[in-house]
Amino acid sequence: MTKVINIGGVLVGGGNPVAIQSMNNTDTRDVAATIRQIQELEEAGCEITRLAVPDQEAAAALAKIKKSVKLPIVADIHFDYRLALAAIESGADKLRINPGNIGGAERVKKVVAKAKEFKIPIRIGVNSGSLEKETTPVESALKHVKLLEDLDFGDIVVSIKSSNVNLSIKYNLEISKKIDYPLHIGITEAGTEFNGAIKSAIGISAVLRERVGDTVRVSLTGDPVAEVECAKQILQCMELRRFGVEFISCPTCGRTQIDLPKLANEVEAACKGIKKNIKIAIMGCAVNGPGEARDADFGVAGGKGSALIFKKGVIIKKVAESEIVSELLKEING
Ligand code: SF4
Repeated sequence: MTKVINIGGVLVGGGNPVAIQSMNNTDTRDVAATIRQIQELEEAGCEITRLAVPDQEAAAALAKIKKSVKLPIVADIHFDYRLALAAIESGADKLRINPGNIGGAERVKKVVAKAKEFKIPIRIGVNSGSLEKETTPVESALKHVKLLEDLDFGDIVVSIKSSNVNLSIKYNLEISKKIDYPLHIGITEAGTEFNGAIKSAIGISAVLRERVGDTVRVSLTGDPVAEVECAKQILQCMELRRFGVEFISCPTCGRTQIDLPKLANEVEAACKGIKKNIKIAIMGCAVNGPGEARDADFGVAGGKGSALIFKKGVIIKKVAESEIVSELLKEING
């Protein structure tokens, strides 16, 4: 069991639910655009977001952003300890900085003192691609951890990421045996939506299955809202968290006589706001559909120009094709 760390009110580690994290891709200096995207992320189910802080203007913008959003914000700092100090004063809920890379003990002391004063944690984030050759990512992370511990600072989260799925799994499982700080996990630079989702699902789930990992980020090229949706799906599939409706739909076959892909997409969209923890099955035929989806709470089995609606594997009514979605929703909400 890891330590529990408080990130702006979200408790991570120590058996708390695995938290979903993302990162804005807006220019932090563009306060309005950044606030808008944070609100979209929050709406999608994101629990912590990270903002790049590349200069003092971005650090100052953070203070304005904090006034308008509820989501905890991690300030992402590279190398410049002055930006770390400014971001903390602007209200960052966590710093992502590697103490070994900021230019000496005096600077580390200043950042740690400020983090202690504002009671915020620090995430050490090692990317295996950007390391000196003679150091392993685990050794590098431990070195950074020691710099903080030597200053009596233990409010730490650690991440070791690689764009290689197998290496990512290996490093995370290895470091989890050496420290008791929460781990932030994910596959870095995973790629575009489809490929990145697959890589992330494989890497993240393999680590989570060993009960390792306290916050997750699915890293995708594109809209960060998709990262949050993908992370939720991974956690739901692992049965670690529930986020409302779980969908299953059949792959279709020679028995299908209905436009099942269209129907499945329509039902999925119509159920997006439903918070009930239920399973819905959209199946192509009445012969095998209900039986194949026996453990679904509600379902549809397509026919020719019509469909059967079933509940827990039992057919309860027959409806015309144009009424499938509305009739199904009536049952779900009834
Ligand atoms: Fe084919 Fe029916 Fe199975 Fe869908 S549910 S794959 S239509 S047999």
